[in-house]
Amino acid sequence: MKAKLVLIGNGMAGGKLLEEIVATCADLYDITVFGNEPYGNYNRIMLSPLLAGDKTLDDIMINHRQWYTDHDIQLHAGKEKAIVKIDRARQQVIAADGSITPYHRLVIATGSQPFILPVEGAHLEGVISFRDIADVEKMITTAQSHRRAIVIGGGLLGLEAAMGLTTRGMQVTVVHNHDIPLNRQLDAQAGMLLKHELASRGLSFKLNASTHKIIGDEQGRVTAIQFDDGSKIETDLIVMAVGIRPNIELAKSSGVYCEKGIIVNDTLQTYDPRIYALGECIEHRGDTFGLVAPLYDQAKVLVNHLSEHGIARYQTLPTATKLKVTGIHLFSMGKFLESQHCETLIFQDDAQNIYKKLVIENETLVGVVLYGDTKEGAFYSELIDQHTNIKHIRPYLMFGRGLCDEMSITLGSPSPDASSSDTSTLDAASSIPHRTRPPIEQRSITVEKPKVVDCPKTLTVTGSA
Ligand SMILES: Cc1cc2nc3c(=O)[nH]c(=O)nc-3n(C[C@H](O)[C@H](O)[C@H](O)COP(=O)(O)OP(=O)(O)OC[C@H]3O[C@@H](n4cnc5c(N)ncnc54)[C@H](O)[C@@H]3O)c2cc1C
Repeated sequence: MKAKLVLIGNGMAGGKLLEEIVATCADLYDITVFGNEPYGNYNRIMLSPLLAGDKTLDDIMINHRQWYTDHDIQLHAGKEKAIVKIDRARQQVIAADGSITPYHRLVIATGSQPFILPVEGAHLEGVISFRDIADVEKMITTAQSHRRAIVIGGGLLGLEAAMGLTTRGMQVTVVHNHDIPLNRQLDAQAGMLLKHELASRGLSFKLNASTHKIIGDEQGRVTAIQFDDGSKIETDLIVMAVGIRPNIELAKSSGVYCEKGIIVNDTLQTYDPRIYALGECIEHRGDTFGLVAPLYDQAKVLVNHLSEHGIARYQTLPTATKLKVTGIHLFSMGKFLESQHCETLIFQDDAQNIYKKLVIENETLVGVVLYGDTKEGAFYSELIDQHTNIKHIRPYLMFGRGLCDEMSITLGSPSPDASSSDTSTLDAASSIPHRTRPPIEQRSITVEKPKVVDCPKTLTVTGSA
């Protein structure tokens, strides 16, 4: 008899896990999946192009319901199929419609919930978040009949929502509590370039602003936002994009140990040995997650255990950032703000709106910000991931892989590739999972918070390229 495997959450992490199981060990399990959204599996990242009208709903589907049938996976999708309780003693899950499903192994992949600012009026009609297809549908419908929108939060999600609504014909103001947008991904210089570009496309900004309350009419619909400085902006729609929180209520109420997220070890096992977890709902060695790349790594590690190989260990690697707004090229990764022992290389071409900053520590690249020209992002990402010693290529580093390779050969010094021992695959012999990265285009939102201190050495290269 096959073991019963139940998956709660049919989002990006859960969906990836299923694909890995199908590819490796489907014969070991009877698989049942519960998802509280009424679809197969879709690419949440692509909600931004969906809002902007660059993709259709069909384009963003990864696996339709038929895929589940074809692979003998029972999918229960829809609000009534949300799991409301895990009975760990009896090893069964209970859905909102009262149905009971037993398991031998359970995987929790319940993702995150958007954070809603705890201000007066936050629950008025017309105040929404940006998390799922239903949110995008609300934004598109509102844009058809209303003119003004406010997006609270100038991070990646907020800017993508704002540009999408602008494309749909709305006048959008981005409200942000910092003096540049994307301040967790960009330094001041790149942030100003981005702000200028977005403003030229019709976006308004209210920066260094703190929301005091949201005002509504007698029907309970939003009409304005008021700030701590007393000023007000009238609006027909507010999109809150101010962060996410791991969705842990189900796990917590069922006695699965949680802190910020569901606590898992390096094999993604929770404190209950029959229960695993992955994705944005987990906390691993103090880290929580907000990007797809690490979740895909987690799916590979977990399937290694579900397939009873039992050797892979999960480790968190730095992840790159990219804004999905057509025509805006930016890339950010690692410790891009100066720290005590760093050196900084900067290239700036004002005429072409190009800005590049590389941060070096102990002869390795530790951070990068690219604005306007991101072609070398993958190269820098590899150098950071692999902790490559860049001593021999340092003078050419700013000019990219081509020149670095050429000069390494000319000077007879080891090329960055040759000096690396990382295979970027799952290395079974050493039991260390290396990341097989998805394309850079599919990643965004960095969560790192570097400390800012005086930087001792700065080399600035200014000029035209
Ligand atoms: C608009 C947008 C753009 C993004 N862009 C990028 C990007 O460019 N690059 C990037 O790397 N990341 C991006 N992200 C983040 C990325 O989408 C997430 O990291 C990823 O979706 C998280 O996967 P997950 O499976 O953990 O959670 P989710 O994809 O949210 O899946 C969790 C699923 O579990 C369901 N669920 C929750 N509780 C229950 C329950 N009790 N019973 C049944 N089902 C339940 C939820 O409804 C949801 O369907 C973006 C996110 C958004 C919203």
